Amino acid sequence: MRDPVDVLVMNATELLTCVGVRRGPGLADLEVLRNAAIAIADGKIVDVGASTDLETRYDAALRIDASGRLVTPSFVDAHTHLVHAGSRHDEWEQRATGIPRHGIDGGIRWSIARTREAHEEVLRAQAIINLDIALEHGTTVLEAKSGYGLDRETELRLLRIASSLQHPVKVVPTYLGAHVLPPEYVDDKDAYVTLVMDLLPEASRYARYCDVWVDPVAFTADDGRRISRAAQSHGMGVRLHADQTGPAGGSGLGAELGASSVDHLECISDADLCLLGDSNTVAIVLPGVTFHMTEQVPRMVDGIEQLAERPHMPSWCRRIINSGAIVALATDYNPGTCPTISMQMVMQAAARLYRMSYAEIWHAVTVNAAQALDRSHRNGSLVAGHDGDLIIWSVPEHGMVINRFGYNLVDQVLVGGQVVVAGARRVTW
Ligand SMILES: [Zn+2]
Repeated sequence: MRDPVDVLVMNATELLTCVGVRRGPGLADLEVLRNAAIAIADGKIVDVGASTDLETRYDAALRIDASGRLVTPSFVDAHTHLVHAGSRHDEWEQRATGIPRHGIDGGIRWSIARTREAHEEVLRAQAIINLDIALEHGTTVLEAKSGYGLDRETELRLLRIASSLQHPVKVVPTYLGAHVLPPEYVDDKDAYVTLVMDLLPEASRYARYCDVWVDPVAFTADDGRRISRAAQSHGMGVRLHADQTGPAGGSGLGAELGASSVDHLECISDADLCLLGDSNTVAIVLPGVTFHMTEQVPRMVDGIEQLAERPHMPSWCRRIINSGAIVALATDYNPGTCPTISMQMVMQAAARLYRMSYAEIWHAVTVNAAQALDRSHRNGSLVAGHDGDLIIWSVPEHGMVINRFGYNLVDQVLVGGQVVVAGARRVTW
């Protein structure tokens, strides 16, 4: 007597399980099953193993033949600025061609102006279009920050949108009121920090997390501590944009606060790296930003952005992995510094610019990324009991997904055992 299940994906040439949050050398220890199958019932994975075993054990309503194909967990993208208006492609041309311009924060203020004047339905429709693209490229859980409103009405509007999008991608909203100082508060940071904190009770109705940009061009570690502790008292988790354009103590603060993640880290101090390596805070690195910012880091000199060469990124990334920190990769999808929402692009950039191995990269976009959103108990791994979310690729081997670049290698995506992408296109239902 065979057990009934909803879906049986069979005959996968390779299947990556990605079980267990990874640190240090463990990041590279990848389990690859061959000629493998996976059974899903009631939205959850019930079994993973040899195809010959599972075929004799289960009767499936839907059987999917994955011969000649790779099967992996779907992606968790734990850092995006999904909901905003406007495109800053002209700004990027100036940056790429070396024309001095007014600051990374100035660019964010341009996006704030466009976002404040955008109608809610326009923002919502644009977010859905981008979620479709993310899903078609293999992402099924995605964090979405506010931070392009920076006033009471718009911040809450962005969080309301992020928390109510009807889509197969699970969206996890984050309140980023402390992104930069909005134009009306440039000379009164304390008043703005007070406003950010005043909004916490309402923001916490929509947002799972609170985020602060702790950086020389944004908020201090003391600002970050005040805001984050207040957020925690409202039941919110904490994550931080930390040490992107200069060391500001954000990474160490994240470890101190028990933050779910600290993100960027390009200018992390040695002392903060020690704290991070010993903590359970996930270190999210963002190679899409390194790629798009032409491997340079913006620094402000007399109000004008100067682009300095970044530190040697492969050795920087290796130091973070060797510290023992839980390393994850994310897109940082945003209109200025990283306008891609494809985790495949991020994987290629991680290999090319950070010299991470294929095995390290796969763990960093699946189980470790899920841990950054406190969801590694149900997402990011192919193991019994987890959500039935996975990708069936158009190629047979996991290295090919990272080696090939510039086009989408997804064939099918399943969410809760339902086929939501087929032939790399979202299925309508
Ligand atoms: Zn960001």
